[in-house]
Amino acid sequence: MRVLVLGGTTEARQLAGLLAGDARFQTTLSLAGRTRKPAPQPLPTRMGGFGGAQGLADYLRAESVQAVIDATHPFANQISANAEAACAAAGVPLAVLTRRPWVAGLGDTWCLVPDMGAAAGALADLPDTVFLTVGRQELEPFLALDRRFLVRAVDPPDALPSNAALVLDRGPYTLDGEIALLRAHGVGTLVTKNSGGDATAAKLDAARALGLPVVMVDRPPAGTAPRLYAASDAMAWLVAHLSSTAA
Ligand code: NAP
Repeated sequence: MRVLVLGGTTEARQLAGLLAGDARFQTTLSLAGRTRKPAPQPLPTRMGGFGGAQGLADYLRAESVQAVIDATHPFANQISANAEAACAAAGVPLAVLTRRPWVAGLGDTWCLVPDMGAAAGALADLPDTVFLTVGRQELEPFLALDRRFLVRAVDPPDALPSNAALVLDRGPYTLDGEIALLRAHGVGTLVTKNSGGDATAAKLDAARALGLPVVMVDRPPAGTAPRLYAASDAMAWLVAHLSSTAA
């Protein structure tokens, strides 16, 4: 069965590991090409956009793709919307492999906001230094703010707020490491989007331990495709689909 995995996440890499060498599936992994040094992948990989939903539908037909797993990031809403539309147009089954969102627990002080603009607005009454872990492409609403920032990103952002320290790093992170970082920079507020998952959750534990407020940007609305929360579940979905097409 010919499978397309839309990737760019740890979960996509985990699924690629399960699919690699499985003779039942002929899989292509697709990456947007944003990361400068992408991690090595165990599957044949294509890079770059398809040209919108229409381009993706054309690709699915041209490559005779029989199933798509959208394992992109929960905030990559454009490619996910394109996948829904393209799979519907081409008649190809689609499932979403994603992470469960983080949920506030005892001792957390979260300010929930719908988008990054609202996150910038929510900072008015919250203390410096503001730790931004929102992705290098999401900094625009913060650029003009006269605040002290700590920005962490995988690759260098195109632009930074004028009073910002930059840390280039890629998870997973530890609680001790995060507490040390917050203390070293005098962080008073954390801003993050609700990506979910374990690899970057230690910052939330650290904020709780230090009693810091968190501005949490909510996820964009989900589509209608089935949602799976583990690479093994995505594998089971593919196997079930394979069995139903063979029957
Ligand atoms: P996006 O806004 O949803 O997508 C913008 C465009 O990039 C899409 O319309 C598509 O171009 C192309 N694209 C995105 N993912 C693709 C993929 N896996 N394969 C081929 N083309 C892809 O996406 P984004 O938020 O910029 O994220 C880009 C990539 O980084 C995704 O793979 C995502 O999983 C990963 N990522 C995103 C975040 C985040 O916070 N957004 C965090 C970590 C990793 P066309 O319309 O031309 O097809």
